[in-house]
Amino acid sequence: MNLALYGYGPEDDREWIAVDCGVSFAGPEAPGVDLIMPDIRFLEAERHALKAIVITHAHEDHYGALLDLWPRLKVPVYATAFTAGLLEAKREGETGAPQIPVTVFKAGDRFQCGPFSIEAINVTHSIPEPVALAIRTPVGTVVHTGDWKIDPTPALGAPTDGERLRAIGDEGVLALVCDSTNALRDGVSPSETDVTRSLRDIISKAEGRVAVTTFSSNIGRIRAVAQAAEGAGRQVLLMGRSMRRMNDVASELGYMEGLPPFLSEQDFGYLPRDKAVIILTGSQGEPRAALAKLARDEHPEVALSKGDMVIFSSRAIPGNERGIIDIKNALIDRGVIVLEDGEQLVHVSGHPRRSELKQMYDWVRPKIAVPAHGEAAHLTAHAKFARGQGVPEVVSIRNGRMLRLYPGPAEVIDEVPVGRVYKDGRLIGTIEEMGIDERRRLSFAGHVCVLVQLNAQLELRGEPDVVALGLPEADFDGEEIEDLLIDAAAGAIESIPRNRRKDLAMLQEAVRRAVRAAANDAWGKKPIATVFVTQAGGKGQG
Ligand SMILES: [Zn+2]
Ligand SMILES: [Zn+2]
Repeated sequence: MNLALYGYGPEDDREWIAVDCGVSFAGPEAPGVDLIMPDIRFLEAERHALKAIVITHAHEDHYGALLDLWPRLKVPVYATAFTAGLLEAKREGETGAPQIPVTVFKAGDRFQCGPFSIEAINVTHSIPEPVALAIRTPVGTVVHTGDWKIDPTPALGAPTDGERLRAIGDEGVLALVCDSTNALRDGVSPSETDVTRSLRDIISKAEGRVAVTTFSSNIGRIRAVAQAAEGAGRQVLLMGRSMRRMNDVASELGYMEGLPPFLSEQDFGYLPRDKAVIILTGSQGEPRAALAKLARDEHPEVALSKGDMVIFSSRAIPGNERGIIDIKNALIDRGVIVLEDGEQLVHVSGHPRRSELKQMYDWVRPKIAVPAHGEAAHLTAHAKFARGQGVPEVVSIRNGRMLRLYPGPAEVIDEVPVGRVYKDGRLIGTIEEMGIDERRRLSFAGHVCVLVQLNAQLELRGEPDVVALGLPEADFDGEEIEDLLIDAAAGAIESIPRNRRKDLAMLQEAVRRAVRAAANDAWGKKPIATVFVTQAGGKGQG
């Protein structure tokens, strides 16, 4: 997730802008969690001095946290029309989401935020209207690239504005903060037009239905598939909520012009198989997305059958591989042909490879290079590359490091609180606040609840009650685990002389230990245990 801060001024009188405010997606390490967001406590403390949040493009890792976090900041937001449109469409779909006033800009525009004069520069990426930012201050200019690549023939929008970047380089650039995603890959990434040609070829030769899954924000790719379908005499169905939402926003801004109207799900069933193309969500293996429903044959109106084809016009985001493989397996088992990147050219990345990075450094010629956007391996490879390009100062920083760019040599001068907060249902909080550690332990070893009732003489009133959740039913010898736990609970009480049973808290702890030890003997794992001990006519202890 991306959230960069630029500050200007002395420590006690510093003004800020934020660039981007993105989310990350939770994996199995945070069961039940929907989204991960940046911990913005530093920004909240500096809110009075935060002049604006500027969004470079509408990928979730760059703008996905705005709706949830903006109410804590309530500062002006700047974004392109496509980003603003998507933000509004998202707001309409979420009850209680805030109305965020957005100042819309386009590539080429300049605007002032406090001491920062910002110029938006057109770049190419895998979504409409991405921009790089030239951030000018009285002591120097920072070029923040956002996500970009150089594609001389993009499917949508103009190519990366090298002329403008070169002119800004001529003025002199203090620092370049640049995308590292593909810094390990040599050469130049293929053009979106090459992908279009390849998809057209595949679709025109296909015999059954063709389903193409891609990121719903990749409007250029969706257009390319729709045009390929039209060329092959096929009609197109868009499936998935985010796909339809994207299409609404893109249509409003004119990005879908010249395409025939999309089909409805109801009409789809009447279409011969060789006349159908489906563009759908689910390229990341999301279990509730349209593709997963088709893979499980759960959709009431739309189905894929033997000989149909599914094209993954996408790349697996790290962490999603398992879900994607499961869906591919389900499709292949049903006789569906699965085509992915690597077999044929059905996808290109929206990020710069090394030859493109070189071009950027040649244009901008910064004094300082700051690799951004990537895992440690990418950031490190990018730093080495930038040194090789002869950049005088290259600084590797990590989350929370405050880097001084001016005056003097670039240097980390402070560390600010950063971290992750988790959106889980309607609430947002830290790992502790949301109980995620405990939830993970529950998913590993389950939970046992024990109720022990004593009479007035402190003797057991019948067997303890035990409820075990997420434990095996029986041990290796076939003994029921719940029975073993009941025996352990009763045994723990009975092993304590009656005259020492007055301390119910002590009994409770003894039962808890005994139950966990019994589970460990039978199973090899210790569940979380909650024990209540009550005494008739006395007080309970839980
Ligand atoms: Zn992006
Ligand atoms: Zn990104």
